[in-house]
Amino acid sequence: MTKVLDCGSVFPGCDYQVHGPTDAEVIVKELDHAHSAHELGPVSVALRERIRGAIREAEPVKRAS
Ligand SMILES: [Zn+2]
Repeated sequence: MTKVLDCGSVFPGCDYQVHGPTDAEVIVKELDHAHSAHELGPVSVALRERIRGAIREAEPVKRAS
């Protein structure tokens, strides 16, 4: 199941979305994005936990039948 993170739940106002197969991968991608887009400095444990808490399962794609 794909994991999704809306960057806006961590950095309000951002509409960037990260997808990945695991929480760990989503967190890595989000931190990459945050370093360049939000000039994020050193990553605290608290921030990492906030990101982890904001990750959700992707909605299954509905197929037209
Ligand atoms: Zn962002």
